Amino acid sequence: MSANIDKASVVIIGGGIFGCSSAYHLAKGGRRDVVVIERNELGSGATAQSAGLLLQGRSNIDVFHLVRRTLEAIVELETELNDHIGFKRVGSLRIAATDVSAQAIRDMNAVLQKHLIAAEYMQEAEARQLVPWLDASCARLIQYVPGDGFVDAYMLTSAYAKVARSLGVRFLQHTGVTRVLTDSGKVCAVQTDRGRIHCSWVVDAAGAWAQSVADSVGIRLPMAPVRSHYWITAPDPLFPRIHPVVVLPDARAFTRPELGALLLGLRELESRTYDARKLPAKMAALQFVEPEDDMELLIEHSALLRPYMPSLDQFRFAHHICGFSTYTPDNRFLLGPVGSIEGFLVAGGCCGSGVAISGGIGETIANLILGRALKIDLDSFCPERCGKIDVYDPAFRAQCAAARARK
Ligand SMILES: Cc1cc2nc3c(=O)[nH]c(=O)nc-3n(C[C@H](O)[C@H](O)[C@H](O)COP(=O)(O)OP(=O)(O)OC[C@H]3O[C@@H](n4cnc5c(N)ncnc54)[C@H](O)[C@@H]3O)c2cc1C
Repeated sequence: MSANIDKASVVIIGGGIFGCSSAYHLAKGGRRDVVVIERNELGSGATAQSAGLLLQGRSNIDVFHLVRRTLEAIVELETELNDHIGFKRVGSLRIAATDVSAQAIRDMNAVLQKHLIAAEYMQEAEARQLVPWLDASCARLIQYVPGDGFVDAYMLTSAYAKVARSLGVRFLQHTGVTRVLTDSGKVCAVQTDRGRIHCSWVVDAAGAWAQSVADSVGIRLPMAPVRSHYWITAPDPLFPRIHPVVVLPDARAFTRPELGALLLGLRELESRTYDARKLPAKMAALQFVEPEDDMELLIEHSALLRPYMPSLDQFRFAHHICGFSTYTPDNRFLLGPVGSIEGFLVAGGCCGSGVAISGGIGETIANLILGRALKIDLDSFCPERCGKIDVYDPAFRAQCAAARARK
């Protein structure tokens, strides 16, 4: 191999935010004989497309812990690098217009309060003061979490990688893993297009491409690539440069400020899904995801949005960003070992929250390899929990898309 690496303790496949966070946490835990293999550039997959929302309000306690670790990691990385990563702590407003959403907010608040995270209920007039373009008069309940915000996912990924590299982790870019090799049911090496690397641990952090890695050892990962997207308006005085992230569960939408413009994300009822075997090796999103229906989707969604955004018709949309992230049918991540192959770990099935949970995912992968106690219960994230399903079946992919709509 031209990079002169033929042996490592751990090989991480994929240099997205999961792979780089895993490398960072392993290196901090003292395991430095680690190689991250990325066939393009670090952070160039789904990570590069992310809107970067980092919201702590979760009704699932384990997911809450995963997000909390990301926020801690950001503080640690800024100290380690003596630099800012660009986390914008603008707060978040979650507006419930139905009883079901209001109950979900109460459940989240219970988790936040238990862990002493500031969160409060707010009146409509107070919400409007924070977000002048917002009409929350339909709200049954409004939650404000001042510690939430958004981050540049590429910068966070680079920060994980930079510290990991400074601690001895090696990164091989423009190198693809073609298969994982096993011996007597144990991981023993990975084959790349530049040679073979012997190892005793493999972390499959290959994002939407993770199934092709898993295929080489006969494992089925219950997830499918599902289109995710958002729009960005032109800069406009309608939108303050800084205001909270706004989550509208009943309109299946969110917004955040973007340099004097507004970023608007939508979840349609039936998102497009892709056959993981046919994904391009590069995200190449704009050509691949056929964005010609972008305005149609906005128009279809406008009836749901207008009650919250009375000036919607004046918004001048300038950009449509789309890519694919992976969803599982039950909206829970794929994290941890697979029973059939010793040394094979999965960090995937991000369900559109991979940036927010990246710290906790990396920490958990490191703890598994280092033999340390876990901070979360892995049972509900078991990569093999769905049994022998056909992950390429369109009906299964539709279940994953439906999970995105319910998120
Ligand atoms: C439009 C959009 C908006 C989003 N918004 C948010 C948000 O607001 N908040 C949030 O938390 N999340 C958001 N997400 C989700 C988030 O971006 C993902 O969950 C996260 O980036 C997943 O990271 P990853 O490391 O698993 O995958 P990726 O970033 O896709 O990384 C996987 C990497 O593996 C590499 N790879 C694949 N196969 C191989 C191989 N055989 N050999 C070597 N390398 C390989 C790929 O090149 C890629 O770089 C969004 C996603 C999209 C698409």
